[in-house]
Amino acid sequence: MMNIWKTNMSDLKSFFYPKSICIIGASSKEKSIGYEILKSIKAYSFKGSVFPVNPKATEILNYKCYNSILDIDEKIDLAIIVVPKKFVDDSIDKLISKNVNSVILITAGFKEIGEEGKKHEEELLRKLNTAGIRMVGPNCMGVINTIDEIRLNATFVAEQPVKGGIGFLSQSGALGAAVLNSLRETDIRFAHFISIGNKADVSELDVLTFWLSDKNIETISFYLESFQNGLELIKRFKNSKISKPLIILKAGKTKSGMKAASSHTGALSSNEKIIDALLKQFGIIRVNTISEMFNTAKGFENFPPPKGNRIAVITNAGGPAILAVDKLEERNLFLAELSESTKTKLKEIVLQEGSVNNPIDLLPVGSPELYKKVNEVVLDDENVDAIISIFVEPVMVNAFEVIESVNLIQNEKPIYQVCMPLPEFWQKYNNLSATQLPIFRTPEAPAEIISNILLHEEKKDQNIEIGEIKIGAKQSHINVYFLDQKEAEGICRSFNLPVVESAILPINELTSINSLKFPLVVKGLSKEVVHKSELNAVKLNIKNKEELFIAVDEIKNSFNNNNHSLEKLLLQPFIKPNHELLIGGFRDSSFGPVVMFGSGGKYVEVLDDTNIKSAYLNYNDLEEMISDTKIGKILKGVRGEEGVDTERLKLFIKSVAKIMIEKENILEIDLNPLIVDSNSNFHAVDVRIKSQ
Ligand code: ADP
Ligand code: MG
Repeated sequence: MMNIWKTNMSDLKSFFYPKSICIIGASSKEKSIGYEILKSIKAYSFKGSVFPVNPKATEILNYKCYNSILDIDEKIDLAIIVVPKKFVDDSIDKLISKNVNSVILITAGFKEIGEEGKKHEEELLRKLNTAGIRMVGPNCMGVINTIDEIRLNATFVAEQPVKGGIGFLSQSGALGAAVLNSLRETDIRFAHFISIGNKADVSELDVLTFWLSDKNIETISFYLESFQNGLELIKRFKNSKISKPLIILKAGKTKSGMKAASSHTGALSSNEKIIDALLKQFGIIRVNTISEMFNTAKGFENFPPPKGNRIAVITNAGGPAILAVDKLEERNLFLAELSESTKTKLKEIVLQEGSVNNPIDLLPVGSPELYKKVNEVVLDDENVDAIISIFVEPVMVNAFEVIESVNLIQNEKPIYQVCMPLPEFWQKYNNLSATQLPIFRTPEAPAEIISNILLHEEKKDQNIEIGEIKIGAKQSHINVYFLDQKEAEGICRSFNLPVVESAILPINELTSINSLKFPLVVKGLSKEVVHKSELNAVKLNIKNKEELFIAVDEIKNSFNNNNHSLEKLLLQPFIKPNHELLIGGFRDSSFGPVVMFGSGGKYVEVLDDTNIKSAYLNYNDLEEMISDTKIGKILKGVRGEEGVDTERLKLFIKSVAKIMIEKENILEIDLNPLIVDSNSNFHAVDVRIKSQ
């Protein structure tokens, strides 16, 4: 909207690496935000200079306090505003005349309260944009950088975050605060934290760009309630040469994308479904919970990535192992088949009552030495890609020694330890562990971590094979219309789609047709009618002229009874279907062109067997679209049936993707059904294109 001046302002450095900051609205009143934020800055020993501004104080927390920002002589990199809303305009004006680099507006009461607040927010933004100043917020809770040379905690959470490699962005201030409050318990270690609030100016896209090129950031995690622009997100993520894992916890529902119930493709794709599918397609990890988000980040940061999905579980108790195995299955991971030699070795050290089959049960007697030895033996097994080692603290064995003995094993395969100890364990572990490796608290956590890391590993080097992501023109919702039958068929043919031969006739010319080939299909066409069979306007398997005339009469009557005008008749050869498929495409308002493949025909909605992908796809994606649907599995051949040529099918899906990318006016395409006949030939018997 107001991005015109931003071209050279993409650098967010002064938010994360300021040398000097001022706090407008610093306060000497304990528990006020203006006080707490200054206290956090001081307690965390910020390495730069700090300038509190408050006309009523001369000194706060031993910092010299300034009457006005204009009294400060030094250049200010970052100004943090916490004054009540009515003073915000004045503060911003002064910051502009002081020519600060960047502003964090913590004060709330803008877009989130309604129209008036929204206008106010836009006004402020306009001023700042004109002055070339970037703003984070309003309605946010600040920024943290744990790097030694900076040590900035400009939030009102009085914690001492420990340095790590995670960049954590939160759209919600409260959630950000909750995470910061729990740091001592969860042991999350991040490099940068930022709360972006209303994201009037700086959005997750700006932060993504910045973090992708910041060497202190290893993994990027976002808590989002809305996507600024899904296509931009993908583009930035894909275009970046540095492939850092991106983990997104997305709550709530976004404003629904373009959804036209008129097309099957549109109706079958809820916004959530698209977000899920497209993030996955590009290797962006979507998580369900806060703990999954940070466990995954810890997994990336502290362990070598698993090379595959064959997992061994080592445990001293049955229950937690079962939960771990259930989660493995849910996440499409496999219990590794241990080699005979591994089992032989294990038999020598594991009690007979235990189990040397995966999951390996050491029983409650499992000692630090046994845990270490068994983990080492299993790591040596070529059939194992990763280990989940679970320990529930029994009376006779101490948790700390077990955990630390396994931690000390060095290997290129990861071991994720789950510990369910007595409460005293955690403090002891924090104080005494030499490795300080993350220990997980639930048996389900490692499976989530492994599957998320595998997604990243699988997708990180994959390229888009068709099209280059382009941020296209805006959709209009005014001049939207369906192309007529011939036009739609023409476009499909020019992209090599197997459109069935058809003849279109005015209704009264039927008698003049002599050379009809039976059996055929007759359909009634009208601009007003989108689903022909609902109006009884599709007559199949017509074997002779008499049947044809009867069918046409029926169609006419049906149109009359429903007050629609029948415009034309469409004649096609009747094709006996073996399978009915759907290929579709449409333009999502946030994520751009998408394609869909699945079970087609009249019952598509009921069958709900479809797969969606961004039209910017590659061969692997095409393969996945087919193998992830039930109809796709059937086409490949089940119960001894010969399979269908799915390579041709992939070409057709690719064609639809190309149409969506190349023809920017096209909003939706529906090939439903694409019939597969008994000779495995394809026939698109119903094509529809919506354009603008
Ligand atoms: P609509 O989707 O507008 O109701 P279709 O043209 O898709 O109309 O036809 C409805 C159904 O009729 C299809 O799902 C298919 O089962 C069948 N059908 C349509 N055209 C043919 C054809 N040429 N040969 C065989 N079956 C057909
Ligand atoms: Mg149809």
